[in-house]
Amino acid sequence: MMRVAVFGSTGSIGVSTLDVLARHPERFEVVALAASSSDGRMLEQCLRHRPRLAVLQSPEAAARLAAGLRAAGAATEVRCGGAALEECAAAGDVDAVMAAIVGAAGLPSTLAAARAGKRVLLANKESLVVAGPLLLESARRGGATLIPIDSEHNAIFQCLPPGLETGRPARGVRRILLTASGGPFLRTPADRLAGVTPEQACAHPRWRMGRKISVDSATLMNKGLELIEACVMFGMEPARVEVVVHPQSIVHSLVEYVDGSIIAQLGNPDMRTPIAHALGWPERIVSGVQSLDLTAMGRLEFEAPDVERFPALRLARAVAEAGGTAPAVLNAANEVAVAAFLSEQLDFPGIARLIERVLDRHGNGPAADLDAVLAADRWARGLAQSMLPATAGAGA
Ligand code: NAD
Ligand code: MG
Repeated sequence: MMRVAVFGSTGSIGVSTLDVLARHPERFEVVALAASSSDGRMLEQCLRHRPRLAVLQSPEAAARLAAGLRAAGAATEVRCGGAALEECAAAGDVDAVMAAIVGAAGLPSTLAAARAGKRVLLANKESLVVAGPLLLESARRGGATLIPIDSEHNAIFQCLPPGLETGRPARGVRRILLTASGGPFLRTPADRLAGVTPEQACAHPRWRMGRKISVDSATLMNKGLELIEACVMFGMEPARVEVVVHPQSIVHSLVEYVDGSIIAQLGNPDMRTPIAHALGWPERIVSGVQSLDLTAMGRLEFEAPDVERFPALRLARAVAEAGGTAPAVLNAANEVAVAAFLSEQLDFPGIARLIERVLDRHGNGPAADLDAVLAADRWARGLAQSMLPATAGAGA
């Protein structure tokens, strides 16, 4: 029996995770759930999965959840706040943590799970971007196993030889080919991008995801974050990770070996496949995902990304090369910019423009410890916020 805590349980990855877990009651027990403030959905999840503990960040939402659970006669304990979440990540009755909180907000609990030696199913890519080397070091010292959930990185993990040590390059690998769907604006002309709405940006052609990652997919910053994630996770220099646009999202990524062999992982675009892979690893378990019908698919297409229309990818590549605290700055500025776009304070091209302006002002330094990383994150958020009005007004 593997005892699992699902952080970000009310989100897109969290819901898919609970779907896979519920298919294997003899194998997994849901011991804890955590989310930000959606107490209604959390109440339903608690009644269905009967965890020992539920953690919310909002005290008001936690109080409503506790009242709802009492009224239903459920025994789940309710806690609130960041410290409770970190304690939960390290709790003795938790074997595996699904880290599926969105943004750098997921870093403290992911780190706590790594330090405590858990199996960490890492969906929260921002924590690897912000503090990659520190997170890997915590996992190494704590004896944790990190398994990537991001579909591309999970695909790469599956294509690499067994016995992978995170952060170290696997022998015989020449390149990693990271596939990108291209997002909803793959064919949108540059001069139309200033007029796109948050709703259009969140209508991803292949995946149903949370709003933040949907916007990241539309700007290609998601692929930029994933480029950094791949370099950290698999110990590769950025020059050996190539981004390839593949609109069908069937090939989830590829690994090229020195002998010219390329190994790819394919499947329908459904996050339950990487989730089930990481939960069952090294065994294979049923995920609920349909078989892929290749003949119905017909053809698979690949093209180079357009970094003129999607400068976020260019910025992320430069940051991957620079290292230090630059990834934390890129991520923080992006979080501010995406939130501003979603609340219609910034137009779509303004997202990359704002990030570039913040990066231009950043004096890079080593990400020596967590304090250095968190200071860079705070500095970038503050600056991005203060630059918002001017960036919003500047036009492309
Ligand atoms: P989402 O917005 O649907 O869900 C986010 C979850 O995090 C919610 O449960 C929310 O309550 C919780 N949350 C937010 N802030 C929190 C905080 N401060 N403390 C505790 N909980 C908090 O997002 P998502 O699409 O499920 O993505 C989650 C993570 O997985 C992101 O890092 C994303 O990049 C990554 N990811 C998602 C997908 C996907 O298909 N959705 C694919 C690959 C990677
Ligand atoms: Mg991905």
